[in-house]
Order: sequence, then C-alpha cells, then structure tokens
Amino acid sequence: GTVCTLSAKDKKGGALYKDAKAPIEKRVDDLLSRMTLEEKVMQLNQYTLGRNNNVNNVGEEVKKVSAEIGSLIYFETNPELRNNMQKKAMEESRLGIPIIFGYDAIHGFRTVYPISLAQACSWNPDLVEQACAVSAQEARMSGVDWTFSPMIDVARDPRWGRVAEGYGEDPYANGVFGAASVRGYQGDNMSAENRVAACLKHYVGYGASEAGRDYVYTEISQQTLWDTYLLPYEMGVKAGAATLMSSFNDISGVPGSANPYTMTEILKNRWRHDGFIVSDWGAIEQLKNQGLAATKKEAARYAFTAGLEMDMMSHAYDRHLQELVEEGKVSMAQVDEAVRRVLLLKFRLGLFERPYTPATTEKERFFRPKSMDIAARLAAESMVLLKNENNVLPLTDKKKIAVIGPMAKNGWDLLGSWRGHGKDTDVAMLYDGLAAEFAGKAELRYALGCNTQGDNREGFAEALEAARWSDVVVLCLGEMMTWSGENASRSSIALPQMQEELAKELKKAGKPVVLVLVNGRPLELNRLEPVSDAILEIWQPGVNGALPMAGILSGRINPSGKLAMTFPYSTGQIPIYYNRRKSGRGHQGFYKDITSDPLYPFGHGLSYTEFKYGTVTPSATKVKRGEKLSAEVTVTNIGARDGAETVHWFISDPYCSITRPVKELKHFEKQLIKAGETKTFRFDIDLERDFGFVNEDGKRFLETGEYNIHVLEQTVKIELID
Ligand code: BGC
Repeated sequence: GTVCTLSAKDKKGGALYKDAKAPIEKRVDDLLSRMTLEEKVMQLNQYTLGRNNNVNNVGEEVKKVSAEIGSLIYFETNPELRNNMQKKAMEESRLGIPIIFGYDAIHGFRTVYPISLAQACSWNPDLVEQACAVSAQEARMSGVDWTFSPMIDVARDPRWGRVAEGYGEDPYANGVFGAASVRGYQGDNMSAENRVAACLKHYVGYGASEAGRDYVYTEISQQTLWDTYLLPYEMGVKAGAATLMSSFNDISGVPGSANPYTMTEILKNRWRHDGFIVSDWGAIEQLKNQGLAATKKEAARYAFTAGLEMDMMSHAYDRHLQELVEEGKVSMAQVDEAVRRVLLLKFRLGLFERPYTPATTEKERFFRPKSMDIAARLAAESMVLLKNENNVLPLTDKKKIAVIGPMAKNGWDLLGSWRGHGKDTDVAMLYDGLAAEFAGKAELRYALGCNTQGDNREGFAEALEAARWSDVVVLCLGEMMTWSGENASRSSIALPQMQEELAKELKKAGKPVVLVLVNGRPLELNRLEPVSDAILEIWQPGVNGALPMAGILSGRINPSGKLAMTFPYSTGQIPIYYNRRKSGRGHQGFYKDITSDPLYPFGHGLSYTEFKYGTVTPSATKVKRGEKLSAEVTVTNIGARDGAETVHWFISDPYCSITRPVKELKHFEKQLIKAGETKTFRFDIDLERDFGFVNEDGKRFLETGEYNIHVLEQTVKIELID
C-alpha cells in the first residue's frame, strides 16, 4: 500500500480523530481518511496473546504482534501485559489506534457465578443483568474491553456440551436473558471503567449441531431458522449488542462464517446493526475443511464479502485481504465499511481517550462483597427442586447427616466450563456449605463413595456405613467440569454407572436420600430418580453456591428455580423439547420400549410452599388488529412460608397458514409472594409480536382467527377479527 505520513500538525495531536469533543462519526471518518490499505486490513484481525505470556515471559508470538493490530485475545488477570501491548499500539503505530482486548468472560471473570443454563432457570433477568455487570467490572478493570458473551444458541440436544453456555431450549428465553446480559455488560455507556462490549454468539444455528456433536453440520429449515434460531439474536441486537460472533456450523450448505444472508441481508440490511461480526476461532480457515474454499485466500474472500468484519485467528485477512482488494475481488468501499465499524466500537469504548487500564489490586477488583452476594443469590434462584417425596426437604429435624459423593468436597467441578479466571481454591465446597449451615444443629459425616468417573467400588462400604449412621443422606453426584462446554459432547447424558450404583447401594441403609446434582446439561435420571427421595439440581453453581444449596436443604431458602431445558426420560428421546410443532396424530409420537414423556418437563420446579392460581382473565375475548390486549392471573401463596413464583405465559394458534408449535413462551414474570398473600401477574400482549408469526424469510404475519393463551393447565380463547 501507499505510505502516508502525518503532517506536523497531526503529530502535535491536532488531528480531528484525536479530539475527544468531536462527534464519534466525524472522528471515525477523519481517521479512516488517513489510513493506508495495509493499516485498514490490520484493524480487521484478532490475534491471541496466548495463555503463557505473562509480563516477564513475553512469548515470540507477542513480540511479533504488529503495533497496528486491531484486536487481541487476552488471557491475563493483570493489566500490565495489556498496557505494554497497548503502549506499542499507541506509540509505535503510525496513527496510534488503540487495540481492543477481547476475552471470554462467560459466567463471571474471577467471581464465577452459575453457568448460563442455570441462570436461565432463575427466570430472573434482573439478577442476570447484575451478575453480568459484575463480570464486566472485573474484566474491564483487568484489561478486557470486550467479552465473547452471551451465547444465545437455542439448544435442544443435551448431548451437545455447549448447552451449558446458553439459556436453554426456548427462543424467547434466550432472547430475554441475552438482552439482560447485554445490558449488564454494556450498561448505558460502554466507555465507563466497569463496562465491556458484548458479543452475541454463535451467529447462527450452532445449537442445532447434529446428534449433539460439536462443530458439525446443522440442518435447519428456513422456517426454523427464523422462528427459532434468529429470534434471540434479533432481541439481542435490539438491546444494543455491540458485536456478534459468526458460527462454525453450516446451515443447509452455507457456513455461518460465509453466509451473506444472515450476516449482511438480515443483520446489517434489515436489523440495521451498526457494530461488527468477529469470526469464531479459526472459522475462516475452516471454510477449507467445510469444503467451501480451496485456499485460505478464497476463504478470506468468501467470509469478507459475506459480511464478516474481523478474522479471529485464521490469519486469512492479514495475509490476503490487501491482495484481494488490489485484484478487484473485494471492494475498497467494503473494507472501509468494515474498518469503520471496528473503529466505531473503539471510540464508543473510550479507548482513544483511555487506552490503558489503571493499576488496581486484586482485592479492589474481585470478590467484592456485593459481587459475592449477587453470585449467591443467582445460585440460589437457579437451583431447581426436581423432586421432594413426602416433603423430606427441608431437613428440619435431622440430627445426623451423611454427606456422600464425589461432588461433596470438590471445588473444581462446581466452576463449570468457561470458568474465566476462576480457581478451585475460590470455590465454596458443598460439604463446607452444609457444615456452616447446620453448625450446632446437626452432626455431619463425610464419605467419598466413588470418584466422578466412578472407577471402582472401594469407597462403597465406608459410604454405606456413614449412611447407616445417619438420619438422612445428602448424596452429591454429578458431571466433571470438562464433560460439558465446548468440544465436550456426550453420547449418553446419564451419570457414570458407578455413581448410579453408589446411590443404589446407599438405599440399603434405609435412610432418606437427598440427591444433589452438579452438572452442565440436563441428565438422564430414570435410574436415580426411584432411589432418591428428593432431588435438587444445583448445576455448576460457581464460587458461591454451597451455602445457598445448604440453605435450601435446611429450609432457610425456599427454592424457586424452574427448568429452562427439558430433562428427557432417556437419551434416546433426544431431541425432546416443549415447543415442538404439532403432528398429524396430535401427539408427540410413541416408543414401544419407554414413555414418550420427558422425566421433568420445561418449567418444572418445586417450592416449599403452595401456590394457587386464580382464573386467567383477558381484557377482552374478541380483539381487532391494532387493539390492545392484556391478560392477568392472580397467584395466592396458600402455604405457610414465603416463596417466589414464576408465571410462564404461553400462546398457541390452533389454525394458521403454517404449522406452529403446540405452545410458545411469550412472557414470564417472577414475583415474591409472602405466605397468605396474593399477587397479580400481567401479560401485555402485542398482537403482532405474540400472536403473529414469521415466515421463512422473516416476514411477520398476523392472521385473524382463534388464539389460545396458556398458563399452566388453563387455556383462554381469544378471537382476532379484522
Ligand atoms: C469458541 C467461542 C469462543 C472463542 C474464543 C471458540 O473456540 O467457539 O465460543 O468465544 O473460541 O475463545
């Protein structure tokens, strides 16, 4: 490219782009007008700083990183390395364009809170927003400007390890929680010292990975793409998400990272998103494996012309984009447009004014009392009481508690995948939580039983002895952390056989068994369920989940979580999810060998109190297009203790010009209801949005006729007329 130099005036800092008071768009224009093609191309690349590059040991990769690089993935907790790299960009690059530092802070940065799938079970988007704000604060103060979160891939196959990272099987729920986390990360002003830019991922359809295997092909109809997979992205974009990440999978023949329809037509032209898309790690290079491009250069052309602005770790744009422009295969205008979007975010983040991260102590950044409190509250609300036979819980009168199983004294596996900078030593262990909770009230005895993988029965005898000694067994079983998350699929979602055998063995003691589960996906529990009197699903609760778990067991906390993803009866039922389309026979299909019902359906979750629903009352039973409609239901806490209840509002359309799901979640609300109190829950219906549907090209329709509103087993009919 041509070499330009700054005029003497520019060097003194007189350039418009350096003027903090000038409007951001003008600053971007000004900066862009000064850049060479080479400099522009470098803005469109993201390299990694690797995991072992601390300040004292700056690896070769780092030394090679050009001062002109657009972005770096940054794995440190200490801003020193960032500041060194940033200094290079600010002082050694010709124009002094700051680097944007990205990192995966998914469910916390250091103060790790529950995995996203658990968070969804809280049905409390405000709390999720607060947790994401904590994550943003810790990340930004540690040198991270941009997080690769939230993942809002609708996931209906629990064999896929990445179900842990999203908000379950429902499109609307993914949209609501995705939007909440965008607000938590970005706040009103991304340039604040405690906010980061968000990234919706993986755009789009990654959750449909065939047979739950990771990185593979997805088969998604145009109709399902729109009404299921795109909906949360539309909601996340509306919430102001700064960036998106393109997905690895290919949708019916077109890879997500080379898809002009999703990236340009939908995201940029229709939704008017003004941020940018970063590829997933190496996704451009992988277009070769997918059989789309024969060379890296061709891969670069496919991805770039489809609308993908930033190349994460493929070295496709840095090597080939300039050449592609010079050959006329990529237009200069498109390069400018892509760079404009990247620069825009850097200005919005305030990086030109504050490129460096101020030095702070770990204590100032991590585990602030308020952050720990949010982590505990979110853990408590995300736990789901799946079963409570004969009200064995809460454990009010038990004097001797046997705490058994591989999860009882295990910090590591409670963190969950994508644990950020979380350490096992940060984690409150379940046994310790129980010891604190029951101090002075009950005696505890611990036995391992078997390890997570369940290699042998050597610990069974000791465990059985503890069970015989006890009044109640708290059995802590689960999955290893590495069994869920990226590239962590399982062919069966049951726990290892030895863990199941341990549960059966303990039954011999004849004492009630409370099963506490630590896992990153819905599990197959049909063999554990009959030998458990109570089952509490605590997921991977993060650093501060032990005391909330113990609090639920003791009765100090009333559980309020409800499943955001179906628990199949067995792996063979997968995919199984509540919002399936209707079938010709009107049922979900039968198996000769097992039930066709899930073990625990979407929305299932018990409380220690009892809620009585009033009659669902709509504001009208006949409405015209454009009119307002709402519905209300009262819920009375008729039990003896306070509790929170989530009301899920579903709709269904009995007859429509396309087939639609049996029901679709359109609204939910959680409220605390004191014992004896009645609360009103309300659903303000937007007819187009809530009754209408999108067709296979995303066009929205609202047809006249009959609609149903569903709350639990109640159905109310509404007629829509012209
Ligand atoms: C994952 C992304 C992640 C990226 C960067 C990829 O392998 O699929 O979810 O954001 O790595 O760490």
